Amino acid sequence: MALMTADEYRAKLDDGRVVYYKGEKIKNVAVDPNLKACVDTMAVDYEMAHDPKYKDLALVEDPELGELVSRYYHKPKTAEDLLKAHELIVTSTAIADGYIPLAHDIGSDALNAITITAHMMGNQDYIDRAENFRKYMKKDDIAACAAVTCVKGDRMLRPSDPGQIHPDYYVRVVDKNSQGIVVRGAKVHITGAAYCQEIIAVPCRQMVEADADYAVAFAIPPNTKGITQIVRPFRSSLSSIEFPNERPMRMHTDSLIVFDDVFIPWDRVFLCGEWKFAATMVYNFALLHRRTGCAYRVPMSEHLLGLGKAIADYNGITNAPHVREKLTDLVIYLETLKALSKAACYDFVMHGDMAVPNPVTTNIAKYHFAHNYHDVVKVIEDLAGGLLVTAPTYKDYVNPETRGFIDKYLSAKKGVSTEQRLRMFDLIRRMTSADLETICLHGEGSPIAERMTIWMEAGKVMNECKKIVEEMAGISES
Ligand SMILES: Cc1cc2nc3c(=O)[nH]c(=O)nc-3n(C[C@H](O)[C@H](O)[C@H](O)COP(=O)(O)OP(=O)(O)OC[C@H]3O[C@@H](n4cnc5c(N)ncnc54)[C@H](O)[C@@H]3O)c2cc1C
Repeated sequence: MALMTADEYRAKLDDGRVVYYKGEKIKNVAVDPNLKACVDTMAVDYEMAHDPKYKDLALVEDPELGELVSRYYHKPKTAEDLLKAHELIVTSTAIADGYIPLAHDIGSDALNAITITAHMMGNQDYIDRAENFRKYMKKDDIAACAAVTCVKGDRMLRPSDPGQIHPDYYVRVVDKNSQGIVVRGAKVHITGAAYCQEIIAVPCRQMVEADADYAVAFAIPPNTKGITQIVRPFRSSLSSIEFPNERPMRMHTDSLIVFDDVFIPWDRVFLCGEWKFAATMVYNFALLHRRTGCAYRVPMSEHLLGLGKAIADYNGITNAPHVREKLTDLVIYLETLKALSKAACYDFVMHGDMAVPNPVTTNIAKYHFAHNYHDVVKVIEDLAGGLLVTAPTYKDYVNPETRGFIDKYLSAKKGVSTEQRLRMFDLIRRMTSADLETICLHGEGSPIAERMTIWMEAGKVMNECKKIVEEMAGISES
């Protein structure tokens, strides 16, 4: 196999996988009228690889295979490698109107976390399995998701705590033999799982010895016996009351994945019982994936600034002092994210033979985005005014009995048509939905997870700063 085209990717999805959507079993996700929008979003990665305009960014010459492979599967060694990957995420997300395509990015975050952890363990078997798996991913241009978050049950109880209602809230090993292991449990919110080719599962928390059966990482195709996915409802098209738009609908959906005694061959197992390394693996994944999160939020933040500026202009209020203040806040929000996410690449650290973005800066960038997101949405909603929720619909606009009134009374600034204003309200509603608010808050981990990592990683710098002031105060030892 070599690089796939978007159509080859789509064709491979008709493989008997078990996926439910709104109570119905989906026959083929690639052509299903709803899921197709998600598949087309993931396909953007494959389209870019064949587009002369983006090819150099999307692909790299792989020294091992001697052929072009997705840049995502290339191990970063330098700041430049990290910056190129950053640029690829930003560019592909911009092409997909604010949705990261997800074919290779999140899967490569999981793959890199597995590789780094195998090296930290010094376990040659795991190192070889991870390298072989990477070779297969590169060669066959595999689309993969990362299944990290377990359903967890009572959050305050450990996976193996007898107080949990049942023992399967975290994915665990229930059997093993000379061929492989059998896993049971469920992962939740797994983006792209219904339309990828590999599910890469890693633990979602630190474990103690009693949790050893839950310290498990593996990769498995979604059509494997025993895997059932239930995807959440989402909007796959514009509604009939919104202004029609020729642009393709971009979307992702997230799966509840049930592993009902699923067999995993040993060559696809990357952690099995080494409970001390469960935290290492999830830490590595979170760091790499938060970097991905910071990058794809750059175009998203540009869109938010664009919405604020556009609706302020359309309403004629841009030069009011409080509006200038608010738009300045949106600029600061965007530029801080851009600067931090790039700085994390320049100030990288080496984990084994791989360059990873600076942990403190990455977590601050992700925290900055998530923590301030709702304030940004508040600014846009404020500048838009109440018509955001009370404006007449497209159907009223095209009805000749009401159009004249709408055109006359809902225009605002000279030079901006009523239709332009109403279209912008439609877009703001779509781009500030509750779904997006939740993904911005919890995607790549809840804000407290970022703060905990910052605290953990900042010990050295805090002590260095303390030492400086102690010296200034004439304190030689503390
Ligand atoms: C749209 C979307 C897409 C996602 N995509 C993926 C994906 O592709 N792959 C993947 O693996 N995950 C994915 N996630 C999961 C994401 O990482 C989690 O949502 C996040 O880690 C929070 O976990 P949770 O949703 O289970 O919330 P919970 O863990 O239930 O958190 C709810 C609240 O409880 C707090 N809390 C939880 N446990 C404790 C505790 N022990 N002590 C104190 N406070 C606690 C949290 O801080 C938070 O405030 C996605 C999430 C969303 C919303």
